[in-house]
Amino acid sequence: MQHLQMVDLKRQYQKIKPEIDAAIHNVLESTAFINGPDVQHFGKELATYLGVKHVIPCANGTDALQIALMALGLQPGDEVITPSFTYIATVEVVALLRLKPVFVDVDADTFTMNIDAVRKAITSKTKAIIPVHLYGQCVDMESLLALAKEHHIPIIEDNAQAIGGTYTFSNGTTVKTGSMGLIGCTSFFPSKNLGGYGDGGAIFTNDDALADQLRMIANHGQKVRYYHEVVGCNSRLDTIQAAILRIKLRHLDEYCAARSAVADYYDNAFKNHPHIITPYRAPYNYHVFHQYTLQLKGISRDAMQQKLAAHHIPSMIYYPVPSHKQNMLKAFAGSEQLPVTDMLQDVVISLPIHTEMTEDELAYITTHFIDAAEELKNA
Ligand SMILES: *Cc1c(COP(=O)(O)O)cnc(C)c1O
Repeated sequence: MQHLQMVDLKRQYQKIKPEIDAAIHNVLESTAFINGPDVQHFGKELATYLGVKHVIPCANGTDALQIALMALGLQPGDEVITPSFTYIATVEVVALLRLKPVFVDVDADTFTMNIDAVRKAITSKTKAIIPVHLYGQCVDMESLLALAKEHHIPIIEDNAQAIGGTYTFSNGTTVKTGSMGLIGCTSFFPSKNLGGYGDGGAIFTNDDALADQLRMIANHGQKVRYYHEVVGCNSRLDTIQAAILRIKLRHLDEYCAARSAVADYYDNAFKNHPHIITPYRAPYNYHVFHQYTLQLKGISRDAMQQKLAAHHIPSMIYYPVPSHKQNMLKAFAGSEQLPVTDMLQDVVISLPIHTEMTEDELAYITTHFIDAAEELKNA
């Protein structure tokens, strides 16, 4: 078996190489490295794709979340509800801005925030909620939006792992993930579903005034050059990245479909195995499988990873330590127990998933995975 990787960006690049190389070359020739025309074009094209009015490109997904929070004008100590079971960036920016992260548990089947837990966590100090569409699965947004509306709390969607996904409301309306909250955020980190060849991120909103504010904060707090209204930051998407992303955006639906097909293959291979729980797909969403994450039951995960590694099959744990147990954030771990998060931490395992996987590779991975599970269940 050829060198297996969690994500194979090389093979993907080879398929679109002429287009990409030409786009990069154009930027080099223009020397418009900062805020070149591709940045504006990409913002407009992404807005059309997502069905939102405004897209503000920025330097990375972490900045996108930070700028979104800054635009809400929160005060130190204001509470922001987030899952603990997420990539650290979601929570880190809350703490960085001297806000208080309030952790809620996730559901064991969807891996996303439990809406009843959010309801219980709301206080008079709650000033924002950050749902995370983890692994490519959308949060139950209809319930969350209703709850947030009732309490007048803005929602910032962390869409870093679910761009291209959709959510269908009970009335049948289908929208893109990231377009439902007051603000949506994403990352173009190379391994994300829409990844650049370096860092990048974007912020989305349908609110005109908020869009101006977000743009101003991302640009040193200025609307007019050298006249600074508020304390902001410097967060820009490079023109070269925008040029690359314009091309990759045209392939995003096909990339999501390819990931979904890999997930179908895995699901089918592992179905009904008593020690392997395949990822649940909530009926309200099109799950775009940023990760394919299984839960192992009654099998040592360490031993499984070792057996896979012996066959040169990579696997990853997203994430081995949830946010509320990170040294950085321990001070914010409330009295609320997060039993599902604590459980998942020890049983999740993610397998290679990307847009270029072959049936041979999938057969090889699943055969060895099932063999290992059979051996380990009796261990
Ligand atoms: C990747 C990611 C981010 C941060 O994006 P960067 O571009 O790496 O800063 C934030 N939240 C989630 C859930 C992510 O997966």
